[in-house]
Amino acid sequence: MKLNRKEMAELIKNMSGKILITTHKNPDGDAVGSSLGWFNFLKKLRKEVKIIYRDRIPFFFDFLPGIENVEVSEEIKEQFDWVIITDVSDPERTGFSEIPAERSVVIDHHITAEPFTDYAIVEPEISSTCELSYHIMKLIDESLIDLSVATPVYTGIMTDTGGFNYSNTSPETHVVAAELLKIGVDPYKVYTNIFERNRINKLKLLELVLKTLAFELKEKVAHITLFRKFLEETEAYPEEAEGFINYPRSIAGVEVAVFFKEIEENHWKVSMRSKGRVIVAEVAKAFGGGGHKMAAGFEKEGNLEEIKKELFKALEEALEKAYYESYS
Ligand code: AMP
Ligand code: MN
Ligand code: MN
Repeated sequence: MKLNRKEMAELIKNMSGKILITTHKNPDGDAVGSSLGWFNFLKKLRKEVKIIYRDRIPFFFDFLPGIENVEVSEEIKEQFDWVIITDVSDPERTGFSEIPAERSVVIDHHITAEPFTDYAIVEPEISSTCELSYHIMKLIDESLIDLSVATPVYTGIMTDTGGFNYSNTSPETHVVAAELLKIGVDPYKVYTNIFERNRINKLKLLELVLKTLAFELKEKVAHITLFRKFLEETEAYPEEAEGFINYPRSIAGVEVAVFFKEIEENHWKVSMRSKGRVIVAEVAKAFGGGGHKMAAGFEKEGNLEEIKKELFKALEEALEKAYYESYS
């Protein structure tokens, strides 16, 4: 059942019993920020709450208040009364094959979100799950939004908007950010903790990945590739490749940037970023993934060359459609 902000606020306010909070695998700033923000908020609301992720938390989120409460586990054994899943558009993205909970709730902002829980709020136009969560929290009890809630919430808004630069940034996003700063969030502290603690291994990995830069479709598509052997060679963590896709996207004339990441042998994670014309969420959806208009992804088993061939064909069609629409 789809709920509006007020109905979701009422639902969460009245939740009783054991509540589990989780998010998507390979958690990003919005995933960690929204789930941890809710965890800290629900603690203040005196709820019995646990927070469990499928995947390890990237080290650059270690400054977030309450992060030590996050459990990382391959499966969830305990039975819960409720599960709140944040920043997730389909059940596989949680990384868990099963979540034992009586009732389930999703708070999300993906355009490709398909209903898979008992209750859901999905706002595809909003910058981030964190921004949406903030509005719902305010409707529950504004006085409970202290620094332990505001800091993770600000973090997710900052990372999902690329530092308030992407087209998902609205006037309202800045209003929310201003309110969070008034609560005491230190933007420089958040920024430096996430972006200015790079390990040399990351830069070495970037060097290897940038050497793979190549173009397709009259240089409208730029792509880079991360082979697993690069991680072994540089001893970098996979999450240190976050943001690498901004380099091919930044090239003049490029419409779509693609990042192929080898997860296991013949298992690839493909990320896409659009400069505006191509709706990459549609392309990703055709490959079983999802996302947003300008940022989307999917996972696929198979040989890299075959995946590339199939994807570039789909992108060729998407580019033709985009150009046709912009001139008609
Ligand atoms: P990423 O390229 O991993 O930074 O993801 C960009 C966007 O696409 C995010 O909003 C993700 O939630 C979404 N996305 C990435 N991979 C998948 C996937 N396998 N299935 C659904 N959505 C995805
Ligand atoms: Mn996310
Ligand atoms: Mn998000």
